[in-house]
Amino acid sequence: MTETFYEVLRRQGITRRSFLKFCSLTATSLGLSASVAPQIAKALETKPRTPVLWLHGLECTCCSESFIRSAHPLTRDVVLSMLSLDYDDTLMAAAGHQAEAIIETVKEKYKGNYIVAVEGNPPLNEDGMFCIQGGRPFVEKLKETCADAKAVIAWGSCASYGCVQAARPNPTRATPIRKVITGKPIIHVPGCPPIAEVMTGVVSYMLTFERIPDLDRQGRPRMFYGQRIHDKCYRRGHFDAGQFVNEWDTEPARMGFCLYKMGCKGPTTYNACSSTRWNGGISWPVQSGHGCLGCSEDGFWDKGSFYDRVTSIHQFGIEASADQIGGAIAIGTGAAVAAHAAITALSRIRQSEPQNKKEGEPA
Ligand code: SF4
Ligand code: SF4
Repeated sequence: MTETFYEVLRRQGITRRSFLKFCSLTATSLGLSASVAPQIAKALETKPRTPVLWLHGLECTCCSESFIRSAHPLTRDVVLSMLSLDYDDTLMAAAGHQAEAIIETVKEKYKGNYIVAVEGNPPLNEDGMFCIQGGRPFVEKLKETCADAKAVIAWGSCASYGCVQAARPNPTRATPIRKVITGKPIIHVPGCPPIAEVMTGVVSYMLTFERIPDLDRQGRPRMFYGQRIHDKCYRRGHFDAGQFVNEWDTEPARMGFCLYKMGCKGPTTYNACSSTRWNGGISWPVQSGHGCLGCSEDGFWDKGSFYDRVTSIHQFGIEASADQIGGAIAIGTGAAVAAHAAITALSRIRQSEPQNKKEGEPA
C-alpha cells in the first residue's frame, strides 16, 4: 500500500511538532486560516500519496529550477514525501525504455487517480517533429499520458500559453496544452518561471483537499493570481504620488520611484510576486529595480518592448478583477492599464515632471 505523507516524514525522522508546524505554514501560504491546519494534518496523515507524472515538452526547465528552490513548503518535503513523483525525465535516474515503462505502469495501476504536471508545450508543425521523445512526437506522449489522469497541471507560461517559443511567427507551432488536451481539468500556473511557493502551494492544496483550487477565467488559481502585481507593490505610494522613474541610473531610480513609465506591466499583471516574493521572500524583480514584464499574462512575449509603457488605457475600476479585464480584452477593447493607473498616472505626470527633469528626460 502507498505510504501517506506523514508516514514518510516520520520515517525520515521528522518530529510531530515539525509536522504540525509545516501544516500551519502550509495553511498560511495558501491564504487559509490557521484553523484549517488540523484539516491539512488529518489529510496528510491518512491519505495515500498521489502519483505524479511530470512531463517536459518544448521548454528551458526554468519551472523545475524554480520548483526545487522552493523555501516553503520545503521542496524536499513536497517532492520526496507529499507527492509520489513517479516520472520526471529531468530528475529521475531511470532512462530510455525503463523510464517510459513507468508511465504505463502508473496509468494502469492508478487509472483516473494520478496527476500529470506538464512543463513546456508540444510543437505541432511537421507532425510534431520539433520535439521527439522515445522516438515519437511529444504531443502523442502528452495525449496518452493525460488520457487517464485525474487532473493536469500546466507549469509556467510555456504549458499555459505557449510563451517565447510560440512568439510570432512561431515556426514550430508551439501550442498551449489546453489546445491538445480535452476533457480534463487543467490548472494553469503561469509565469516564466512561476514562483516556487506558488507551485508547491497549488500541489499542497490539491493533495490536501482532493480538489482543484478555484480558478479564474484564464484557468489560474485565484489564491495566487487573484491580485495584480500593482495592488501589493511597495512602490505603489510613489505611483499614487505621481513619482516616476523616467530614465535608468537617475536619482528617481535610485530613490525607488514607480517604474510604470519604464514599462512596468504591474498594473495589468496578475501574480503573487509583490506579496509572496521570490527566493524565500527575499526580493522580487521590481524590488531589484526592474519593471514587471507581465510574464504570467497570455501573450506577454508579443506585446512589444518590455520598456514601452502601456499606452492603450481603458477605463477599469481599481478593484477590477482579472476576469473583468480578461473579458474586456476578449471582446476587443484591447490591453489596458487599470483606471487607477490611468487616472492617477496621467493626472500626476505634469506634477512629477519638474522633479524628474532634474535627472532625466521626461517622457
Ligand atoms: S507600476 Fe509597477 S513599479 Fe509602479 S507601483 Fe505598479 S507595479 Fe509597482
Ligand atoms: S514581477 Fe512580473 S515579470 Fe517578474 S516574475 Fe513577477 S509577474 Fe513575471
